[in-house]
Amino acid sequence: MSEPVMGATEVIRPDKETFLAEENPFESMMERFDDAAKLLELDPGLYKVLRTPEKQIIVAVPILRDSGEVEVYTGYRVLYNTSRGPAKGGIRFDSAVTLEEVKALAAWMTWKCAVVNIPFGGAKGGVVCDPNEMTLAELERVTRRYTSGIIDTLGPDSDVPAPDVNTNERVMAWIMDTYSMHKRHTVTAVVTGKPVVMGGSLGRREATGRGCMLVTRQALARLGLAMTDARVAVQGFGNVGSVAADLMAKEGARILAVSDKTGAYFNAKGLDIPDLLAWTAERRHLRGYPKAETITNEELLTLDCDVLVPAALENVITKKNAVKVRAKVICEGANGPTTALADDILESQGVFVIPDILANAGGVTVSYFEWVQDRGGYFWDEETVNRRLESIMTRSFDEVADWSDRYKVNMRIAAYMVAIDRVATMHKLRGMYA
Ligand code: NAD
Repeated sequence: MSEPVMGATEVIRPDKETFLAEENPFESMMERFDDAAKLLELDPGLYKVLRTPEKQIIVAVPILRDSGEVEVYTGYRVLYNTSRGPAKGGIRFDSAVTLEEVKALAAWMTWKCAVVNIPFGGAKGGVVCDPNEMTLAELERVTRRYTSGIIDTLGPDSDVPAPDVNTNERVMAWIMDTYSMHKRHTVTAVVTGKPVVMGGSLGRREATGRGCMLVTRQALARLGLAMTDARVAVQGFGNVGSVAADLMAKEGARILAVSDKTGAYFNAKGLDIPDLLAWTAERRHLRGYPKAETITNEELLTLDCDVLVPAALENVITKKNAVKVRAKVICEGANGPTTALADDILESQGVFVIPDILANAGGVTVSYFEWVQDRGGYFWDEETVNRRLESIMTRSFDEVADWSDRYKVNMRIAAYMVAIDRVATMHKLRGMYA
């Protein structure tokens, strides 16, 4: 659960006008989908199928507050496409959750699983609520009631949730327990991102950041650069950003700047990442970190550096600031950090963007490993998890780069092409049940 962080928060979301013009999340995703579908000359019937979510569930989530009052929240679960396997995707608890956003995120999950070629479809879920205003007991009741509301779709063979914004391994444990109580036996494989002691996977916590490091290393090599001495700026020092920064530093990179909700910190000689990790482990935020200069979040995004890792939230590189981005490589640790309009600007500037559906797919890849281990009842050591993750991430990067060369398109469109081609192939082989 992300802790509420008080203090000066520099809001870097685009203004409302830019947001409305640039970013209906579903339409923004579909813009890239359309470009890729056109290049693939996707069959018009399949195009219609792939543009449409398979199932959209809306449930009421009534709970008793600790005060004895009844509160009713709205919960969503969208299964976007399950042609390649069980639906896979996180559950977020946030007051800003909308069905449109959940649909977009579910579609993203479909393409992400296909890019790394793991046998899952895509899903996403959410409850419109503010967990920061709830007690732990209320949060547990929301989780259990929401789980029972969507229980008909859940299952290791049909729909497998994971943590997302404001949900964590604690919440996954409650979902697993609720589902198992209904089934009358323990079903660990119904969720991923669980505590390791109850069937979670070693290496899952670090998997997304590790994947970012691996594909960034490949991107740099493609440009004739090395990770050693690469100058890196990381936006967001949470799970993804802090692990990516740490592993890149261990590979010899110089981390010039990192940021979180409370501000951005810069050191031209390179930040001491273990020291920053110790600082945030104690305080849960970067505010007040003494061994660096403070800069603004906007300055971090436009720093003179080799690699920029946006690993905080969506829509941070927009048509307004893309022109000022000086990084050679952008590794999208977050989902949707770059708007479609910004993409065009970055491309014209020659910035090499590793798109989110590839860059942050390390997380879902190790979720897949967790599901495999749960179903096999046999658990791997961390070295095995990391080695298999590296093999999938590097192979996926190479495949997307090959498509990018072959079709002379950027890595984002190439990644969508790989994904859509894989999902479409599965539909063609399975045929239409009509
Ligand atoms: P997190 O909550 O652990 O960390 C988010 C970080 O971003 C925090 O340090 C927070 O302070 C910071 N942040 C928030 N607003 C900011 C702002 N305006 N400016 C600068 N920093 C800001 O979340 P996470 O799990 O690291 O996820 C980050 C992103 O990566 C999200 O987009 C998420 O969907 C995506 N992602 C995460 C995973 C995963 O396995 N955790 C997998 C795939 C994608």
